[in-house]
Amino acid sequence: MHPNLLEITDLKTHFFTEQGVVPAVNGVSLQIKRGGALGLLGESGCGKSVTGYSILRLVRPPGEIVGGEIRYYGRDTSNGEDLTALDDRSEELRTVRGAEIAMIFQEPMTSLDPLFTVGNQIMEAILYHQDVTKSEARKIAIETLDRVRMPQPVDVMKNYPHQLSGGMRQRVMIAMALSCQPKLLIADEPTTALDVTTEAQILELMRELQDELGMAILFITHDLGVIAEMAEDVAVMYLGKVVERSDIESLFAEPQHPYTKALMQSIPKVGQKAGRLEAIRGMVPPPGNIPAGCPFHPRCASAIHGVCNTRAPQLQQTRAGHSVSCFLYEDESKTKIVTQINGLDRKTTPY
Ligand code: SF4
Repeated sequence: MHPNLLEITDLKTHFFTEQGVVPAVNGVSLQIKRGGALGLLGESGCGKSVTGYSILRLVRPPGEIVGGEIRYYGRDTSNGEDLTALDDRSEELRTVRGAEIAMIFQEPMTSLDPLFTVGNQIMEAILYHQDVTKSEARKIAIETLDRVRMPQPVDVMKNYPHQLSGGMRQRVMIAMALSCQPKLLIADEPTTALDVTTEAQILELMRELQDELGMAILFITHDLGVIAEMAEDVAVMYLGKVVERSDIESLFAEPQHPYTKALMQSIPKVGQKAGRLEAIRGMVPPPGNIPAGCPFHPRCASAIHGVCNTRAPQLQQTRAGHSVSCFLYEDESKTKIVTQINGLDRKTTPY
């Protein structure tokens, strides 16, 4: 049996707009272990969600997967199957979505239908994927609501989404996602719209369910606190690329990429004196306007003049289980050669 449940290799998902091609995901490679929890971290607009949608083949025109492979080892556990090769309307893809891989979103109201009761919607998902009768589907729906610690699940079945609080709606979404016992759950900022108490409850619930059901989770978030709480491995994304990949302990003990370090400096720490938090300078540029060289160079406090703005660094291993895409961690001699070729001195903070 292959140790990974999903392997993404050099995935490219581009959007063909009137203004030009937007490479929202531009060569992403990731692995999700069986039963593991991978955190995908980055600011808005870095391609995290598009990566999640690509796995489920939910990208719609003008977006398109233009390259790479998404190999899923959930059904063919030895050789896997490439999800990018499945026909959009095929039975196989229909089975993968929901029954094998499920997704929950930031704002449940955009995914739940306001015209149908919660019970109807969960039962519909069950009937779509499982060969059961209506009364069996109802029983599974109530059991799943109970499993996600929904108070009075039988009564909630009769409620419409607007009659529930944000936390309860998110529990319904999780129940819908879990009703078919998927092997992988993609959670796209599932707690961003919730207050901190409800967020803590939902995160705890997801951790418990992951242990109980042995499913893997891809946790998409901009929140380092959520990553620390939920993930075993982390991939940091910036402008459509993974710039750092590591296990959680190594990332927090010794972050390497200047972007990851800047993200960490921008969160408050226990014991830190009140004052202004460090902000990452500048903004994420629009994905259609990616700077030449290292895409982070206009915002990077450690940029090497003449190198970072001319060449793109590659992701490479810097120590066991930790990879980074940054010239600061490349072989020193290479950087020196490039610096000499450009006839420029290595300087920091030149931009
Ligand atoms: Fe900064 Fe250069 Fe590293 Fe990019 S390659 S993160 S610009 S130091």
